[in-house]
Amino acid sequence: MPAYLPIFVYLCIKTICLMNLIEFTRIFPNEESCKKKFKEYREAVGVTCANCGGKEHYWKKDKEMFECKSCHTRTTLKSGTVMHKSKLPFRYWFLTMHLLTSTKKSFSAKEIQRQLGHKRYHPIWHMVHKLRVAMGKRDGEYILAGQIELDEGFFATEIPKEQKNEPLKRGRGSQKKSKVLVMAESHKIDNPKKGKKPRRVGYIKMRVIEDLKKDTITAVVKELASKNTELDTDGSNSYVDLKDFVKKHHSEVIPKEKIGEKLPWVHIAISNAKRQLLNSYHNVKPEYLQNYLDEFCYKFNRRYFSEFMFNRLLVASVTYKNEFRYASG
Ligand SMILES: [Zn+2]
Repeated sequence: MPAYLPIFVYLCIKTICLMNLIEFTRIFPNEESCKKKFKEYREAVGVTCANCGGKEHYWKKDKEMFECKSCHTRTTLKSGTVMHKSKLPFRYWFLTMHLLTSTKKSFSAKEIQRQLGHKRYHPIWHMVHKLRVAMGKRDGEYILAGQIELDEGFFATEIPKEQKNEPLKRGRGSQKKSKVLVMAESHKIDNPKKGKKPRRVGYIKMRVIEDLKKDTITAVVKELASKNTELDTDGSNSYVDLKDFVKKHHSEVIPKEKIGEKLPWVHIAISNAKRQLLNSYHNVKPEYLQNYLDEFCYKFNRRYFSEFMFNRLLVASVTYKNEFRYASG
């Protein structure tokens, strides 16, 4: 079981089932309705005083702040959440969460800016990335287990600034490609029905990595998967140390035409993620690729939640304090 929020938190909150824009505008007609819902979620998850760590608070209605019962430090509705220090209205955040969770596809910040009718691009770009970071943090609490497929994907990204003057390399080592380690829980089905896949997929994870050295890969696997794992990989030398960490490691040389059969789900995930990035964004900077992949994995991992997706993202957004920083100019 993922170390997610205790189930009672979900029970405390009246679940919002959002299906479409009409319902969204009915449930959240204005700023006040969003603020009220956000406060309800914060109270269910719990407010922690930044000064003394106290959990008990009064609500100061006139100031619209929580006040710590022990030290009287005040906390705004947004502080300590994904909206920490944000000047954007709650309704912008809510509508963006709805857009991000109402479809499998992704939205560029430009598109969301258009939908919101906001003048400035950057605050919107920041907001969407902050939500992606919250998605990544939520999934970060889950450790993969059981039978796992593992492989690398090479994603097209912009050439990093510091490498712009270097001669362009070809293939996997190209400056136009970012390396991503992809893992998918994939359980063998004993007697698969005709035309159906021989494996059932569970959670997936994607992690941008600097290089394909065995130490790098072993460290990431240790972080993302439990010891009680059976790993399936190709015969790459980068994987030689993994057998010491996991329960079993099946490694074999896989011819290109067999990869879809031997490691089906990592390859479906890689090609779907690539298509989504290509369809939604012009150029992806390598330093932000992880955030886009986090969004992809978050939605993939909750593919059966449909109308509860908004609800789940709202819980994540009150749980995690924003730590997103603009990486380059
Ligand atoms: Zn306090």
